[in-house]
Amino acid sequence: MATKSKRVYFFGNGKAEGRGLPKEVLGGKGQGLAEMSSIGLPVPAGFTITVDTCALYYELGRKFPKDFEAEVKDNLKKLEKATGKKFGDVKNPLLVSVRSGAARSMPGMMETILNLGLNDVSVAGLAANTKNPRFAYDAYRRFIQMYSTTAMGLSKEPMEEMLTEMKKKAGVKTDPELSADHLKQLCEEFKAYYKKNMGGKPFPQEPMDQLWGAVKAVFGSWMAEKAVTYRRVEKITDLHGTAVNVQEMVFGNTGDNSGTGVCFTRDPSTGKNVFFGDCLINAQGEDVVAGIRTPLKLSDLGKYLPAAWKQLQNVRTQLEKHYKDMQDMEFTVENEKLFMLQCRTGKRTPAAAFKIAVDMVKEKLITKEEAVTRITPEDIERMFYPVIAETDKKKLESSFVGEGINAVPGAAAGQIMFTAEAAEAAYTAGKKVILVRKETSPEDVGGMHAAQGILTATGGKTSHAAVVARGWGKCCIVGADILDINVEKKQMVVKGKTYKEGDWLTLDGSSGAIYSGQLTLKDPVLPPEYKTLMGWCDEIRKLNVRTNADSPADARKAVEMGAEGIGLCRTEHMFFEGRERQLAIQSMIVADNTDDREKALSKLLPYQRKDFEGIFDAMDGKPVTIRLIDPPLHEFTPKDDAGVKELSKVTGLSPDRIAARIDQLHESNPMLGHRGCRLCITYPEILDMQVRAIIEAAVLCAKRGKKVFPEIMIPLTMASKEFFILEKRARAVADAIVKDAKSKVKYLIGTMMEIPRATLIADKIAEKAEFFSFGTNDLTQMTMGLSRDDAGRFLPEYVDEKKAGVFKADPFQVLDQEGVGQLVKLGIEKGRSTRPNLKIGICGEHGGELSSVKFCCANGMNYVSCSPYRVPIARLACAQFEVEAKKAKKAAPAKKTAMMKKAPAKKKAPAKRK
Ligand code: PEP
Ligand code: MG
Repeated sequence: MATKSKRVYFFGNGKAEGRGLPKEVLGGKGQGLAEMSSIGLPVPAGFTITVDTCALYYELGRKFPKDFEAEVKDNLKKLEKATGKKFGDVKNPLLVSVRSGAARSMPGMMETILNLGLNDVSVAGLAANTKNPRFAYDAYRRFIQMYSTTAMGLSKEPMEEMLTEMKKKAGVKTDPELSADHLKQLCEEFKAYYKKNMGGKPFPQEPMDQLWGAVKAVFGSWMAEKAVTYRRVEKITDLHGTAVNVQEMVFGNTGDNSGTGVCFTRDPSTGKNVFFGDCLINAQGEDVVAGIRTPLKLSDLGKYLPAAWKQLQNVRTQLEKHYKDMQDMEFTVENEKLFMLQCRTGKRTPAAAFKIAVDMVKEKLITKEEAVTRITPEDIERMFYPVIAETDKKKLESSFVGEGINAVPGAAAGQIMFTAEAAEAAYTAGKKVILVRKETSPEDVGGMHAAQGILTATGGKTSHAAVVARGWGKCCIVGADILDINVEKKQMVVKGKTYKEGDWLTLDGSSGAIYSGQLTLKDPVLPPEYKTLMGWCDEIRKLNVRTNADSPADARKAVEMGAEGIGLCRTEHMFFEGRERQLAIQSMIVADNTDDREKALSKLLPYQRKDFEGIFDAMDGKPVTIRLIDPPLHEFTPKDDAGVKELSKVTGLSPDRIAARIDQLHESNPMLGHRGCRLCITYPEILDMQVRAIIEAAVLCAKRGKKVFPEIMIPLTMASKEFFILEKRARAVADAIVKDAKSKVKYLIGTMMEIPRATLIADKIAEKAEFFSFGTNDLTQMTMGLSRDDAGRFLPEYVDEKKAGVFKADPFQVLDQEGVGQLVKLGIEKGRSTRPNLKIGICGEHGGELSSVKFCCANGMNYVSCSPYRVPIARLACAQFEVEAKKAKKAAPAKKTAMMKKAPAKKKAPAKRK
């Protein structure tokens, strides 16, 4: 953290000391005030205390740093000079507002105090000076109220009640109708309340004491529970404090020729280019925000304060031209004169974000490159998920059951089913289902697919349930440990209440909240601007974006989302659709000799071939990476007696023998056991069947005139020999089929990079491997020594800044560039040292996450692959990377030239990595 000696920056009279400083120094509000002052907008003078000061205040155990108080006092003197008023003066007191302002807006999270500097004496001076005692006492009662609650932490309600009582007594309905005397009396009541609740201490009369109290309150609000929670939810991890803005007060409450308002240069809900906002006549800023009085439409300002309205419209145009983005502004009109109190980039809905970015390109305010940097992954994600309808927002509180980890956003409503079979049966019977499980396994896939939403009692964001659900864009909440599930009894108990099979639940996967009953959901509508902007991303990006898809339906969906190939088809997922396939794979597993195993595999062959054909058709000429079977065999075995009996009938083996085989397959640590390519080393006939299915499907499609590019992928390679054995065998099977069919089908054979050892010997593996795909789920698990299924139990604490804060983000979601990233880089470097044109991609969950995708772009991968619903996010991330790289390249020579006083050596532009 920087310990700059300058902690306070003055602004006013058309100048600002801090102009050009980043938000990280001045905070968003401070930066906006400095900028508006500098471009000649009417901004009341003031000064900004830096964000670093707040951070240092905490470092020093909630104490101001040395010399800070003297610096504030100097700036206060400047402010007195600029305004011609004196702080604490009895006749013409300088009053100030004290407001927070972090580098990122945290609406409603931090504190503001207005009218600071008033006391029992100066309020009388203000009343006499302005000849407006009503205004003076209104300002004083507001100040006492805000200071008591914000700086001193007294509860708000008693003072609000006193205000309501006073209105009753005066026989009036609204605050502005209260007279000066009423307000004066209210000030006395408030002060008495303060004294009583502050252990007999009177309300502070010394303005300097008030100021220090207010600055401390703003600093203190940074670590208030709600602010910390907000930062966690919004994933704000890179900020370390708030700035404080002290500014001369201007008054919107001097009478009917004054007012205040909040406005946006465009509609933040729809993005339409209309001036949008609320205002109030004879009021102070917080009245609008707090919703105390029903505000007027912004355009009504023209009726009441026409001169100020005209000025405000000019400010709107000027600010949009200046910032080239939609602005959110706060203003006050004091006696017909407009003052700007804030401007910042306005928050907007995802639909508005797309419309504003596209419209601004059309208006030539920004370029296409700039437009793609205006969209966030969250904007894209939120565009696609169903939402709980506005009409049901009221029911939320009464039906709230509890919450889990928000694994996949969107909302879902359905009837509870506790098993995959029940879910499938209910689905077949036309019901909407929420599948509730302790955890899910590959056997549950059918039920998961049938369900509207998935809820599990255990697991984290990369648990099976989460990964599978994300692939489908299906609402999913995991790790809801409040659920006490009893599958036998077909019920669960949550906080003492029992929920039975068939009861309705609504899940909000965006927040992790679980509701009882059936709330109304609605589908989002994609605006045309979405397509336009995503098209620009495709023009700009250099990396290809593929998808992880296991069925023709997923593949079609992914193409719709912009996928240019399949980067990972998990073939084991195909064994679980339908009982016949399940029985065939189970027969293969319980077979204890090669003949029986081959017989069982021959039953699976047509299913797989048909699926691959469907996928090749859907991808129509795009490359398709198909991974051979990966998970441990015991995951496929029957889990109950009924299942064993059914399998016994099919195979002719006794139930005891099947049970013994299941026992034999049990592993204590299956993630590190008999899985991945180890399965094909021990049972090569599995490889034979899968390669046959892939290549026969490719040949069939090619015969029908389709273009096909199959890529056979060997999972979990740890040794070069292991890979060479399987590569040789796969090639033999494939070449024979191609030859027999006299086909021209070409294919590639490559491997996943999921085991640290594989990255260390990537140069050897690349002797035969034609491509690498980084499986960063397993690579993270094995590099960090953390179970991807269990780490959810403690990782939240590891990323919580108020707790351990070991990592900034969950490494299973955001690639750990510091550690795992090194292995990725090494694998790429070593692989390409043997095979310079080695095709390299990523197919772990990180392939759809912004910073991880940018890392892949920066390190020379050819493509990223992610679940269909994340494809647009990856397209955006790749485009943003190119825009940022171009910007950095432009900036670099200038910087270097300035530093070294000589031109940098020219580097050849990298080849396009399509
Ligand atoms: C991986 O490990 O990153 C991967 C994509 O494989 P899976 O998630 O199927 O283990
Ligand atoms: Mg893996």
